[in-house]
Amino acid sequence: MKIRYFDHAATTAVRMDVIKSMLPYLGSEYGNPSSVYQIGRRSKKAIEEARKTIANCINCKPNEIYFTSCGSESDNLAIKGIMYANKEKGKHLITSKIEHPAVLNTCKFLENEGYEVSYVNVDENGKVKLDELQNLIRNDTVLITIMYANNEIGTIQPIKEIAKIARKNNIIFHTDAVQAAGNVNIDIEDLDVSALSISAHKFYGPKGMGALFVKENVKFVSIQNGGHQEKNKRAGTENVASIVGMANALKIACRDLKQNTEYLEKARSYFIYEVEKRIPDVKLNGDRINRLPGNVSFSFKGVDAAQLVLALDEYGICVSSGSACTSGVSEPSHVLVAIGLNEEYIQGTLRSTFGIENTKEDIDYYIKNLIDIVTKMRNL
Ligand code: PLP
Repeated sequence: MKIRYFDHAATTAVRMDVIKSMLPYLGSEYGNPSSVYQIGRRSKKAIEEARKTIANCINCKPNEIYFTSCGSESDNLAIKGIMYANKEKGKHLITSKIEHPAVLNTCKFLENEGYEVSYVNVDENGKVKLDELQNLIRNDTVLITIMYANNEIGTIQPIKEIAKIARKNNIIFHTDAVQAAGNVNIDIEDLDVSALSISAHKFYGPKGMGALFVKENVKFVSIQNGGHQEKNKRAGTENVASIVGMANALKIACRDLKQNTEYLEKARSYFIYEVEKRIPDVKLNGDRINRLPGNVSFSFKGVDAAQLVLALDEYGICVSSGSACTSGVSEPSHVLVAIGLNEEYIQGTLRSTFGIENTKEDIDYYIKNLIDIVTKMRNL
């Protein structure tokens, strides 16, 4: 059966050209980048080239990029690393109620260590309440960490406005841009953020590969003991092949951003239009306009989304109920609770995230089966 994949927020397939660029570093170019002989130096050179490529894509300096093993690690390093390094200023940080567990659980960990965390609310579209954020700021606030775009409902936050608030109050601002990178234009200079996390597998790069941007003048410490890699900020022999793969994947995503965005927004609008027209009692979650180009989160009243996902899978359709990172967990999604969604809709929430390889025929096949299955499930 043909697989029709609409779960690009969970992960993406590595592009063939990206795989090809990685292959030498899985084969003959196996030198340790810390070794001084030629094959070691060539690995080191590949890493520094990749650093430049990524810096170019997001408009920062190469020495402000640190390679990590994933988006979760980038978030951990940013949040813990910044809080530990700036203890003399205070032990307070602010985040939002709709962050990914990589951020929320890091905050929880810090709370157990005696740090204080304030959680800003979002409105019904999932947008952070800026006046509330302003009011949560204290003299001892070190960090604001708020995601660029939400992984469940796709809402894009007003990052520039949050950065302005942080700048005015002399607070460091980190954003988890794991869902945004490769899908929206990220310009560090323009955004004026101090730290930003990305993850390669969300933009057709390899899994287990992340990066963290930290502005030159921002103090942060390593959270892992070991060797001197990444300017003493992240110990461990570098994953050369994946670093090269991530850089190439991001370069291609940036190069094709305009046409990909147009395509995904068209696919998204078509899907939303057809579903809203043909299925009653359905609610679109997140901001109708200000959302990730490929993201659609729909809640179907009176439907169990976990069953819906399994039924769609029978037809080769891959989608997710809520967020892939939390699926399998029976508690209602913290994001859907935070936007005030009614309980009768929460459990019927289905996240579809489109990708550039999805054709109109794929989407029509999905819509047809979605209508059939939802109708059948409601009639039961
Ligand atoms: N942050 C967000 C917003 C995400 O969506 C994810 C993964 O889905 C992560 C962080 C974690 O990234 P990784 O899977 O690379 O650890």
